[in-house]
Amino acid sequence: MRKFVVCALVMFAAAVASAADLQLTKETLADGVYLFRAPSDLDLWTATNVVAVVGDRDVTVFDTCTRPVTARMVIAEIRKITDKPVRTIINSHWHMDHWMGNAEFAKAYPGVEIIATEETRAYMQRMGNAFFSGSIAKGVARRRADLANATSDAQRKQLEDEIALYDAFAKESAEVPHVLPTLTYREELTFWRGKREFRLMSVVGDATGSTALFLPAEKILVTGDALVHPESGDGPPPWTTNSYAITPWLATLRKFQALDARVIVPGQGPAFHDEAYLDLTAELYQSILDQVHGAMERGLTTLADIQAAVNVDAIGLRYTPGATAPDPDFKRLVGVLTKKAAQEAFDGVER
Ligand SMILES: [Zn+2]
Repeated sequence: MRKFVVCALVMFAAAVASAADLQLTKETLADGVYLFRAPSDLDLWTATNVVAVVGDRDVTVFDTCTRPVTARMVIAEIRKITDKPVRTIINSHWHMDHWMGNAEFAKAYPGVEIIATEETRAYMQRMGNAFFSGSIAKGVARRRADLANATSDAQRKQLEDEIALYDAFAKESAEVPHVLPTLTYREELTFWRGKREFRLMSVVGDATGSTALFLPAEKILVTGDALVHPESGDGPPPWTTNSYAITPWLATLRKFQALDARVIVPGQGPAFHDEAYLDLTAELYQSILDQVHGAMERGLTTLADIQAAVNVDAIGLRYTPGATAPDPDFKRLVGVLTKKAAQEAFDGVER
């Protein structure tokens, strides 16, 4: 796999990080198939992957970045690769870090078709612009507290620059136009661009009604946040637990396993070139579900008792080889997954 870095300096954030920290990473996954990874110093805790597929006549793009500024960087890189227009965009799910660049692509490529599931479009239509506000407020509050205790001018400058970056992000996410999907589907959609086949599947990941893309000829699977890499920046594998239920998410992971993909592109982080991480995550979900169901069948009823009965430490250690105890974030993740598994196991009743 060829892997190299694309130089793309963004002026307003230059004070925060060095030029090297602000470069997109480009990986060629197959002939005409490129993965662009955003720099976390620009996209903060979430740096969504974008896959661009160059066809005979046009380009298809999966997800459009966390930030408009990053989307503009990706568009500039696509234009270096080809003068063919982007005619098709796929939005994996409603979380804003996967579609905030829609407006930039629509501006650069008027008439671009944007595909998502019916559910995703409906969620996007109903959501306000507050998706990031809690995380931004937390990030700024932490830095302001650190600023009060800063011991050097350099530290103060660093924190002030980071707060400015958060403020710029907040402004962008508050103002970004909601450019909605123009074509929706349920369950599955297959289309061709030239000779290349694209298969879209409606799946459950950290959001219901998500879309995963499979390129059968190249055996490339692009998962959105139905699978997230541990290097995604803000926590443990699989990083995010927003979905209301675990069983349909596990069914999605099983579906992915059956595809026998050669390359798996997660929602964030580098591409996988084997199925080890996917298999481990499916094993984790299966084990939690089995243990939760077992505990409830033995008569445990409170969330605390059910959580105490679940032990997946051995699986947790395999996510962080060499560690002597599972990452504390992993424990937190398991607690949340256990709560959701217990809830869905008994008709949605909260414990
Ligand atoms: Zn998500």
